Amino acid sequence: MKKYKTLIISLLLSSSIVLIFSSCDKSRKLTSEEITDLNYLREEEKLARDVYLFLYDLYQDDVFLNISKAEQKHMDKMLKLLDTYDLPDPASNERGAFNNVELQTLYNQLIVQSDSSLIEALKVGATIEDVDLFDIRAFINRAERKDILNTYDKLDCGSENHMRAFSARLSELGYQYQPQYISQTEYNAILATESGGCGKK
Ligand code: ZN
Ligand code: ZN
Repeated sequence: MKKYKTLIISLLLSSSIVLIFSSCDKSRKLTSEEITDLNYLREEEKLARDVYLFLYDLYQDDVFLNISKAEQKHMDKMLKLLDTYDLPDPASNERGAFNNVELQTLYNQLIVQSDSSLIEALKVGATIEDVDLFDIRAFINRAERKDILNTYDKLDCGSENHMRAFSARLSELGYQYQPQYISQTEYNAILATESGGCGKK
């Protein structure tokens, strides 16, 4: 009987060890840089969504509402990746609150800038897409996993659509946006391409 008990206990122990290892398996394979990028992009998409919601409240312009919905989808895609690798979600439920200090500072600056006029708000929109494209492209260059690359590609495609939308609205108001993060060549290439769906990429 005692032997039997010991056997059961050792079986339970070994199976729980197997469980612990298998649940860590996916996150163990990600490098710390990959994890940092996933966390950063999850909150960066939240920054875009939260700024656009703020701007929609302020100016009631549909461009902000429509793009905020796309940013919510981008946030969801990032959360899905974090879940896949058993990583905790860094994003707060509170609008305008960020765990990443750099993103909190950027959010605060953009809110102040966009408060003055619709044209400033549209410039803020273009700037967010500019930073987003710059970051996503850097992350794509160092990512290797297919599922991560696939999500980054979709976010990049969405950001290009948003950049074209903000740029076109600014042009209508007589302002030509100058890229501050991506290169002029990348920016011109985006403007020269037609917007489209990013779902099937
Ligand atoms: Zn986005
Ligand atoms: Zn966007």
